[in-house]
Amino acid sequence: MNEELFERAQRSIPGGVNSPVRAFGSVGGTPRFLVRAAGPYVVDSEGAEYVDLVASWGPAILGHAHPEVVRAVQRAAEQGLSFGASTPAETELAELIIERVAAAGTRPVERVRLVSTGTEATMTAIRLARGATGRDLLVKFSGHYHGHSDALLAEAGSGVATLALPGSAGVPAAVAANTLVLPYNDVAAVEAAFAEHGDSIAAVILEAAAANMGVVPPAPGFNAEVHRIAREHGALVILDEVLTGFRVGGAGWWGLENSDGAEYTPDLFTFGKVVGGGMPLAALGGRAEVMELLAPRGPVYQAGTLSGNPVAVAAGLTTLRLADDAVYSHLDATADRIADAVSAALSLEGVAHGIQRAGSLFSVVFGDAPAPTDYAAVKRQEAWRYPPFFHAMLRQGVSLPPSVYEAWFVTAAHDDAALQRIDAALPHAARAAAEAVAPE
Ligand SMILES: *Cc1c(COP(=O)(O)O)cnc(C)c1O
Repeated sequence: MNEELFERAQRSIPGGVNSPVRAFGSVGGTPRFLVRAAGPYVVDSEGAEYVDLVASWGPAILGHAHPEVVRAVQRAAEQGLSFGASTPAETELAELIIERVAAAGTRPVERVRLVSTGTEATMTAIRLARGATGRDLLVKFSGHYHGHSDALLAEAGSGVATLALPGSAGVPAAVAANTLVLPYNDVAAVEAAFAEHGDSIAAVILEAAAANMGVVPPAPGFNAEVHRIAREHGALVILDEVLTGFRVGGAGWWGLENSDGAEYTPDLFTFGKVVGGGMPLAALGGRAEVMELLAPRGPVYQAGTLSGNPVAVAAGLTTLRLADDAVYSHLDATADRIADAVSAALSLEGVAHGIQRAGSLFSVVFGDAPAPTDYAAVKRQEAWRYPPFFHAMLRQGVSLPPSVYEAWFVTAAHDDAALQRIDAALPHAARAAAEAVAPE
């Protein structure tokens, strides 16, 4: 069935998928066509059930189809799918975001705008930064992914890494020329870029902790240094928490790093994934002074027919309200448990590897090089060990991200039964990784 569905999909949809990584390009084989999901499990078109460590790339933090989220969505849908007008609930969600992104007595998000995708959130944040500073240049880091808008596709991690593309065709050279791409975790490179172009740089955008080239956490102090340097030169900082926000903790990665006192304060944040609870919803937020430059208050235009969609808002609100400290503790403990089990199984088979962590996000890096701190190092790993590992897990009913350059996601619904299934699958998968043959 999966096979036939994929054949058929390719006749009407480019590559048979609506987002490239789903095509299994980097692991080979036929993607599973999913028909339903509940808790930690997904079920494919052939009725096979898998323990899921993709979690829709993050949103399913409570587990799939959490009954309370589903009920909230149903109730909202009954009242109307979309109005194209303001609703009371969207203000509640904005207020909740403002309240949650707090650490050491500070609340850096003073205003929020809801959009439909993370790509829109980062795109708008950049336009805002350019509008606020009157400058054009943007600094990003190699291997960081911020969605698929033109300015942000340069050396953008997983999706493009998986396809082995440097960027994307169709991006005008003039647009790419406004993006400076720097090596991650390299303060000297940031200093040098600002020394040369400081007066023209509108903003630095960075993932709060990089998790789209596999997981590569910022070196201690790196995020704070980036803020310090940008500030010195009058540039803004956009902290992209589309993936990490409300996932690694209630106040995101920023909250984890600043819990003992605000070491750095981004001008703008972007959120997505968890904030929509599985529905198309994302957000940007930040300092009132900057956010109020958005239309209709200010001169920076942004709009959306489905922005603040009531059904999506219901899913996001309910998800955030249910994501309490107990949920985050469970995610951390579950990530520890799985990461340890993966590591033990690989070690037993003599497979050199490392586990990369950022809060409850983790990924495996193959080979015996030291823990990579940037994209170039990540790409030097023995990536060819992953496809056989991935497929051995899949055959035994565990669904991992179909690329070594993606983070693994746990949920509050991963219980002992789910973890035992993962444990049971690991020995074979580790053996497959050990027996993998390097390409010529
Ligand atoms: C997923 C992601 C995006 C893009 O979000 P979409 O909703 O897929 O457009 C942007 N930034 C980061 C860090 C992401 O992980």
